[in-house]
Amino acid sequence: MYKLPKMPYAYNALEPAIDAKTMEIHHTKHHNAYVNNLNQALQKHPNLKVSLNEMLTDLTTVPEDIRTAVRNNGGGHYNHSLFWEILTPGGAKEPKGELLKAIEDSFGSYQEFKTQFETAAKTRFGSGWAWLLQTKDGLKVTSTANQDTPLNEGKPILALDVWEHAYYLNYQNRRPDYVEAFFSVINWDVVLEKFKQ
Ligand code: MN
Repeated sequence: MYKLPKMPYAYNALEPAIDAKTMEIHHTKHHNAYVNNLNQALQKHPNLKVSLNEMLTDLTTVPEDIRTAVRNNGGGHYNHSLFWEILTPGGAKEPKGELLKAIEDSFGSYQEFKTQFETAAKTRFGSGWAWLLQTKDGLKVTSTANQDTPLNEGKPILALDVWEHAYYLNYQNRRPDYVEAFFSVINWDVVLEKFKQ
């Protein structure tokens, strides 16, 4: 049984970038529903011994009758858990040390990385996520649709939810403003820890 992770900070901790009501609904309703629906699907296969990470990395390891449910709800659980972590208040406001060096090696500069990430987030049509991935060929920016994870391409170290439920109360249709505000609340120390793991 998977459990909704406790939010490690107050719902209003990210204001004004992300408002408390959005955080509360996002965590207690949206993320919670992904966890419940994931558990419900997995109950059909009580002897399944594959970890969520393995399942999302290779969906063919998931029994066919629950594959779509795991993809959507397991993905939803994985993605949101990472999202809450990298938003933990405090920490470095820009990448430092070996992570900054890796960003410069892969993108040329932090500014160029930021531009590429923002473009990925703004141009993802409909619902989805923007990502910074650690791959065997260096760092990479990508985006996915719905709750798809990028685990088959690399290890996600930074995630941005661009579903309307993540910003609509405060930003309505202004996704670019939300994306810009997101950069003011990233905890780059947490991202660096994930990079080093
Ligand atoms: Mn979401």
